[in-house]
Amino acid sequence: MNLALFGPPGSGKGTQANFLVQHFGIPQVSTGDLFRAEIKAQTDVGRKAQTYMDRGDLVPDSITLQLVRRRLDAPDTERGVLFDGFPRTVAQATELDKMLQVMGRRMDRVIFVQVPTDVLVDRLAGRLTCPKCGRTYHPKLAPPQLDTVCDHDGTALIMREDDRPETARKRISVYLEQTLPVLAHYRQQHVVSDIAGTGSIEEVRERILRAIGVPSAAPAGMSTGGPAAGVRLAGEGPGGGIPPSEQGGASDTETPGQRRPPGIRPSDHGRSQGAGHRRRVRGR
Ligand code: ADP
Ligand code: ADP
Repeated sequence: MNLALFGPPGSGKGTQANFLVQHFGIPQVSTGDLFRAEIKAQTDVGRKAQTYMDRGDLVPDSITLQLVRRRLDAPDTERGVLFDGFPRTVAQATELDKMLQVMGRRMDRVIFVQVPTDVLVDRLAGRLTCPKCGRTYHPKLAPPQLDTVCDHDGTALIMREDDRPETARKRISVYLEQTLPVLAHYRQQHVVSDIAGTGSIEEVRERILRAIGVPSAAPAGMSTGGPAAGVRLAGEGPGGGIPPSEQGGASDTETPGQRRPPGIRPSDHGRSQGAGHRRRVRGR
């Protein structure tokens, strides 16, 4: 099963990916993590990528696709992949379609996680990241159990340079201009599920599982999808970056779970290692 978590920076893709990779036993492919690993290893690709990342711009498609191709060659991707933060341009989505087709596969479901812009900036400004496993926390919204160390591996958490409010805002505007049009690409394939990314991490998780076709454990009456009433979501509504016709209305109802039950061996794949792109947390 090939899934993609799609949404603006700070919408909770990495947070949810952590759970989903364990639940479905497929590895996470986060292009942001792949780039940070290259930066940490001081490779040529890492040096090139860093100049774009520092400015909040997208890394060019040729470099991004080179890393994704290499990652998809690894044997652990045979049963499928959870993409996080990829594809981020229409050209990347088109190339990914071709890569999957060659492997006899397709994108089964794209989960569009929607969060209002002001919430995104608050989340990013406080985001704490584990440089070892990539897990993220927030001092107020999702605190680690022990002050400023990762619950999973005890590594000291850092704040990413590109999460500073100025760069975070730039990344959100790049998302609206260059990444949001990718949705129209997948809406044409009828594989998009729209999920409200607000509410608790567990609530968002339930919505995602339902969209994928896994029976929900949520109590009756809990909201399980769609944006909260009256909430203006990043990129939605007037001036949101793409024409309303391309935003495409309601979620597609057929889920990969209905077409092809997951039935996948569980295993524990964490986020990829490394983050060269960071500032240390100096307590709270
Ligand atoms: P993304 O990978 O989409 O950029 P993250 O998963 O890193 O986003 O989440 C961004 C920040 O928001 C992190 O600090 C994370 O702890 C926090 N966060 C994630 N999901 C929620 C949620 N449902 N409610 C509150 N905070 C959240
Ligand atoms: P976030 O989780 O907050 O959305 P990521 O870790 O996914 O951030 O990405 C950090 C940066 O890495 C982006 O701002 C961009 O510079 C670069 N990047 C990540 N994925 C891609 C991609 N698919 N295409 C181009 N650049 C990317």
